[in-house]
Amino acid sequence: MTQIGHLIPGFVPPAGAPVTPVYNPATGEQSGAVLSGGKAEVDAAVAAAAAAFPAWSALTPLKRARVMFRYKDLLEKNADAIARAISAEHGKTHPDALGEVQRGLEVVEFACGIPQMLKGEFSRDVGPDIDSFSTREALGVVAGITPFNFPAMVPLWMFPMALACGNTFVLKPSERDPSATNLIVQLAHEAGVPDGALVVVHGGKPAVDALLTHPDVMAVSFVGSTPIAEYVYATGTAHGKRVQALGGAKNHMLVMPDADIDQAADALMGAGYGSAGERCMAVSVAVPVGEKTADALIEALTPRVRALKIGPSTDPAADMGPLVTAQHLAKVSGYIDAGVREGAELVVDGRGLKLQGYENGYFLGGSLFDRVTPDMSIYREEIFGPVLSVVRAASFDEAVGLIRRHEYGNGTAIFTRDGDSARAFVNQVNVGMIGVNVPIPVPVAYHSFGGWKRSSFGSHGIYGPEGVHFYTRLKTVTSRWPTGIRAGASFAFPT
Ligand code: NAD
Repeated sequence: MTQIGHLIPGFVPPAGAPVTPVYNPATGEQSGAVLSGGKAEVDAAVAAAAAAFPAWSALTPLKRARVMFRYKDLLEKNADAIARAISAEHGKTHPDALGEVQRGLEVVEFACGIPQMLKGEFSRDVGPDIDSFSTREALGVVAGITPFNFPAMVPLWMFPMALACGNTFVLKPSERDPSATNLIVQLAHEAGVPDGALVVVHGGKPAVDALLTHPDVMAVSFVGSTPIAEYVYATGTAHGKRVQALGGAKNHMLVMPDADIDQAADALMGAGYGSAGERCMAVSVAVPVGEKTADALIEALTPRVRALKIGPSTDPAADMGPLVTAQHLAKVSGYIDAGVREGAELVVDGRGLKLQGYENGYFLGGSLFDRVTPDMSIYREEIFGPVLSVVRAASFDEAVGLIRRHEYGNGTAIFTRDGDSARAFVNQVNVGMIGVNVPIPVPVAYHSFGGWKRSSFGSHGIYGPEGVHFYTRLKTVTSRWPTGIRAGASFAFPT
């Protein structure tokens, strides 16, 4: 069993410090235990980050960028090991975990260009002989709190940007799969980030609360479920911090009558069942427009869902792995029970799946519901599992109305061959990230990621230009130089 510790320079955990068990979701066996810190650990972590701030922030942006270049190189060389660490505790397949590492690494690539992003603005002659310039300066110690579903990518959305901007960073990873996060932080240290400039404190609510109320933490980035995001936003801002808190989702994919149904069905398979549906950008609701489209879509989806290959991450043929914990498996299965009770038509039932040799793993087969209606809990709430709901809409306007009225607004997509429908869709939906014939429209690292409505609290998106704005504050200087030596030498004794 692995002991997973904090990464706080000079801090020795007290004997008998509490731990949280970590499981291998494919076997159901406990594989490790992670220390569960509280106020003392957070105080030590913030003190280390505060001590590291003056020297790290005084480095030129170019020197911090060089550290990011080395980090990018180390992430590439260790991508396979990071992906294995992710899969061992999260359960996702190896290619999916490699994809996660790649998307995180792309943020590091963006951070390599930080001198360009920190350049500032200059205006000559804002008044007679008066000039003005603006720069963006680091905030100080900032913190990140991250979810289980991307233990490498989501931390990489945060700390490379924060560090490149000159901040020091305290990271509180998910207690469910902490090993991959420790590994990417150790690689950052190897690349040249001082140990105190990037520290990790493990734990749950007590550690989060200590961060949210610590006077020396200037800003908090959070990614996780909506109730906790809202709590983090309210508590952090009440304590004077800048907070960005990204929450849950219910992403709809609209399928127009003119769409290529096979293409739409294939897109829904990857977007609905990839990573066992444990993605904030997963499509969990398909909205075919018109009965004929709906019938064709169900006919295309049903054999595909039945044919899903489910297995441990070590099985190269697996399309998806287990759910993350026994509790999460019970919760997702409970939603399938609720959907049946509420009158939805369960076309494919993934409950009760047992894999030979992995009987205690947290596996659930792909599940497909038809004729789901907006009043059902399986429609209103985020399930976060391999369960796709089909809601039949009679018209484009009805389909867009569903999206507009839903409490979440993270991502959405439309599949169509008609430019006019696509354009109207883009203009009318109140959602942050939109795909046109792209099912999972996660913005690339040089754009920024962020949902609308109750999928995100705070005014900044994460990474990209929005990340730079979040992790820096503006300083604007207005200067005038009175006439001096240029007016000529004075030979009289000054009086
Ligand atoms: P979660 O909210 O349970 O946990 C997220 C973090 O908050 C963890 O570090 C956890 O330790 C901490 N936490 C948990 N309970 C807490 C409490 N009561 N008080 C204070 N802190 C607490 O989320 P999760 O289950 O790890 O992740 C899945 C969720 O994250 C889904 O809702 C998913 O949609 C969301 N998510 C959103 C995005 C996005 O970009 N919008 C990305 C990934 C995941």
